[in-house]
Amino acid sequence: MSNEEDAAIPVRVAARCRPNGAAGLRDGCVPCVTVVPGEPQIVLSGEKAFTFDFVFDPAAEQEEVFSNAVAPLIDGIFKGYNATVLAYGQTGSGKTFTMGGAYSGDADPNSTGIIPRAVHALFRGWQSRDAYEFAISVSYLEIYRDEIIDLLYVGKERPLLSVREDPKEGIKICGLTERVVATAEDIICCLQQGNLSRTVGATAMNAQSSRSHAIFTITIEQRGREDRESHCRSKLHLVDLAGSQRAKRTKAEGDRLREGININRGLLALGNVISALGEEGVARRAHHVPYRDSGLTRLLQDSLGSNSLTLMVACISPGDSNLEETLNTLRYADRARKIKNKPIVNRDPNTVELQMLRQQVQQLQVQLLQARGGGIVTMQGGGEGQAASVQSVLERNRSLHEANAQLSRELQVAVDHTAHLREKLILSEMERQKLLARFAELKDHEA
Ligand code: ADP
Repeated sequence: MSNEEDAAIPVRVAARCRPNGAAGLRDGCVPCVTVVPGEPQIVLSGEKAFTFDFVFDPAAEQEEVFSNAVAPLIDGIFKGYNATVLAYGQTGSGKTFTMGGAYSGDADPNSTGIIPRAVHALFRGWQSRDAYEFAISVSYLEIYRDEIIDLLYVGKERPLLSVREDPKEGIKICGLTERVVATAEDIICCLQQGNLSRTVGATAMNAQSSRSHAIFTITIEQRGREDRESHCRSKLHLVDLAGSQRAKRTKAEGDRLREGININRGLLALGNVISALGEEGVARRAHHVPYRDSGLTRLLQDSLGSNSLTLMVACISPGDSNLEETLNTLRYADRARKIKNKPIVNRDPNTVELQMLRQQVQQLQVQLLQARGGGIVTMQGGGEGQAASVQSVLERNRSLHEANAQLSRELQVAVDHTAHLREKLILSEMERQKLLARFAELKDHEA
């Protein structure tokens, strides 16, 4: 696992072209996107080619997108990694359709998007892992005009949320509602409840266009039923970014125009972060990564260039009237591919600290034994071997202590006995001397 933990893993990018359906035909546009058969490659206007980790043509089903691009991230969650899926693209390019954030449950199951599929895949995973127990919670927020809004808050006055950077746990949002859930249906219910609070507004491009960035987060804690110390906590962030729209095309005015400017500012900041992270070697180290330039980039800090397995789905429209935005989206996605994340297994910090303290105590006990002249203790490699070896040394030490105490007691008895005998010897000697003196006196008297 340590090799895996040290490895830098690039952000994976999937490009998905939506069918030239109602939205595209209304503009009377001609398709300008070609997907190269059998290759993860997209060619724009027959000239500009882009290669990604995955490319999905307009005929690709939701299931195909999920099983190829997202399922490996779900496997990573069970190994303790964080994972992020984010959809990027112009308004009307299929982000909401792909993410499935607007899932109502009664639409065609084939059109179910990534979020509900991920939720069900997670639950299947939990059910098949009997050796573990799970605690799951959900949060849902949106960033609207660079302000964070808690979509699961049920009171009247929504509190203002603040972002804090925790040295152990990364980015934290103080005061955000974390709903504890027990079933897949509970999670879907949170998604639907949050969607009712989302800020959406109609533009000329898409009647349901979302005006905010939304982040739906599922936090999973897993602990071994037998091995209580195998405890880790991972997060799955599912991000539906607001559309990258140009004011001229959306015919926005007033509040809508100001919203659009704010949305673009967040996406521009995200683009700058992606560019800075995509730099190689010295250039990368020299560049400051401007995470703090917007709420969006701050919240995505752990997902970009840091501790997460990340998938960006670049959604594009096929028509030539969208050519400029499509080119921008593909360039954006191409830069994202250069970002190398360093995902790590997120063990519970308390458990890790406890394990370290235990190890320290064992080492100190061994050192103490050595200092008392208990001989050289051979430490075997591997945590278990080491612990067993220390345990047997401690056992032996205890039994030697007991034997020593018993021998000391017997020695004391023997010493007492010897002293007693010596006393008797001295008294007998004195008696003998007295008798000898008396005998000499009597002899003189006779003479
Ligand atoms: P966005 O969220 O990017 O603004 P949407 O997801 O709302 O765009 O997509 C715009 C329209 O196109 C919707 O009516 C959606 O159902 C349809 N659509 C998008 N992608 C696909 C697809 N791959 N297959 C079928 N319909 C799609």
